[in-house]
Amino acid sequence: MITTQSHHLATAPLAYLVAQTMGMPPWASAYQSALDWSQFAFKRGEIKMVQAAPPMWVVGLGHHITPSTIRYAMGELARAVTHLPHIQVVLPECNQDLVQAAVLGWVMGGYRVPHHKTDDAHTNKVPVLQLVADHPELSHWIAEAQVMAQATCQARQLAHMPANTCTPTYISEAIASVCGGLPIECEVIDWDRAMQLKMGAFCGVAQGSDEPACLVIMRYRPHSGTPIALVGKGVTFDSGGISIKPAKGMSDMKADMSGAAAVIATMVATATLGLPHPVTGIVALTENMVSGRAQRPGDVVTAYNGKTIEIINTDAEGRLVLADALAYVIATDSPRMVVDMATLTGACSVALGEMACGILGNDAALIQSLIAAGDRVDERVWQLPLWDEYMDYLKSDIADMANASELGKAGTCTGAKFLQQFVGTTPWAHIDIASMMKTTQSAGHRVKGMSGVGVQLLIEWLRSQPLH
Ligand SMILES: [Zn+2]
Repeated sequence: MITTQSHHLATAPLAYLVAQTMGMPPWASAYQSALDWSQFAFKRGEIKMVQAAPPMWVVGLGHHITPSTIRYAMGELARAVTHLPHIQVVLPECNQDLVQAAVLGWVMGGYRVPHHKTDDAHTNKVPVLQLVADHPELSHWIAEAQVMAQATCQARQLAHMPANTCTPTYISEAIASVCGGLPIECEVIDWDRAMQLKMGAFCGVAQGSDEPACLVIMRYRPHSGTPIALVGKGVTFDSGGISIKPAKGMSDMKADMSGAAAVIATMVATATLGLPHPVTGIVALTENMVSGRAQRPGDVVTAYNGKTIEIINTDAEGRLVLADALAYVIATDSPRMVVDMATLTGACSVALGEMACGILGNDAALIQSLIAAGDRVDERVWQLPLWDEYMDYLKSDIADMANASELGKAGTCTGAKFLQQFVGTTPWAHIDIASMMKTTQSAGHRVKGMSGVGVQLLIEWLRSQPLH
């Protein structure tokens, strides 16, 4: 919970956010005896507790006061004071960007990974945040930021859920339930309909699983303009199929639906905030399993757009489910641009580590706008090349293309090159979030566990789009 007050109370716990450029704050002398300022470096996220009554925390912002440093510091603070029932926080300045960054950092940084332990006695709760600030728009800013932050938490929640619970059916029902209260129209394409529609790429992946697969389309239409389309990979568990993955780390493959989770959470936030842009979100939900019905290497499938694909590697399934989702949404909704988000390739982690997602596409302006939005919300994306020659890696002797290359080169680029065969001339960008699917160490607004990455990026990007 977040409340506001125009002045701080001397009787309650308090935290000050301080940047190096602010110099020594005027109130510091009161704590001269309790806090040794020579020991405080003003580093971003540095936290010192001052033994006073009531206690006080000083939180470093680094050199400058920016939304980024505020978000980071508030995330660190949220995890440092979980023993308190409430805390007052004094921001160095009061404007929309800083207040919203503070709320985002607090809620995202204070997120706790859901667990299934029967002993819940030691679970800390995030204290009530009492923002000390004064502005007529303050509660509106906070409410907006809470919607955005909750969207990331919602995506994390879905990604953390075990795959035996978080099935395609579960996700489609969750979408129906959350969209029921919002101006979003939902359409479900179940297995039979997908077969009728000749979505051979999607169905080829789904046929190996006993869990019914589906695609869910969410349409938000605040007016009748041409929509933007968001497409998410929702593989609720990826065993690799017949080209099975090694055992080590396979449990993380419950989060191979993180792209879909980001798209769902973004749609919910977009409609809740009442953004003015028409948006279609489509998620392709299936498991990728091993069974007597599972797709084999060497199989040939025909995608929704009529192109034939030789399956070289059944673990390159994300691009297959996305191929049909992309071609379908372009055919039905004629979007003015499409952004897909997917945990597509391990190669993206090799290239970029946990520092950025990869971005590739056919439209320079669209890619630049996504990179800029990612920079503003600290969900960085870095462009990789999509040269035509990458198609050489996907040559098949018997079909229009292969779904993977056995060369083991430029995996992220060939994955995107494959997807490009299904978007035609529609401006399109593909964001490979595999590199940032999981956070290995909590820092700022990032919490160890599944990251929910991409949600802030997509919301910020949508908010910055000119109206058509
Ligand atoms: Zn896979």
